[in-house]
Amino acid sequence: MKWYYCLVHNRVEPEKGCANSERLGPYESEEQASHAFEIARKRNEEWDAGENEWGTKGEQVDLGDDVD
Ligand SMILES: [Zn+2]
Repeated sequence: MKWYYCLVHNRVEPEKGCANSERLGPYESEEQASHAFEIARKRNEEWDAGENEWGTKGEQVDLGDDVD
């Protein structure tokens, strides 16, 4: 049984439900699917915080990796 987290309805759905493009997954369990959304949301929050950090550190981006 595969589970998805639906971004339209903000809930876990079984395989039969909304279009996969509207959902996160598939996941092996209903519980995993619900956690997946929490992880994705957390990641977005970290991204937002990261962008602020980038804004202040933008001039210190290290491009040295390409130099060989
Ligand atoms: Zn749905």
